[in-house]
Amino acid sequence: MWSISDKGEREFTGGKEDWAAVAHIAENCPGFKPDDEDEMVADEAVSCYNCRYRRWTIKSFVCCK
Ligand code: SF4
Repeated sequence: MWSISDKGEREFTGGKEDWAAVAHIAENCPGFKPDDEDEMVADEAVSCYNCRYRRWTIKSFVCCK
């Protein structure tokens, strides 16, 4: 579900459209914080894709928490 990059960053391996998986991760993550409204992309309010700590990469995102 996560891979560790050369820089030691944790990148989600499911890409940018695994809506159910990232909602599940975020629901169980104590670090979730909603991003600004104009940065929200997922319909599920609680989702890594909507989290302040996700940073988009070419294929997916990294969790900066
Ligand atoms: S992006 Fe990171 S901090 Fe945010 S909900 Fe996902 S795993 Fe938690």
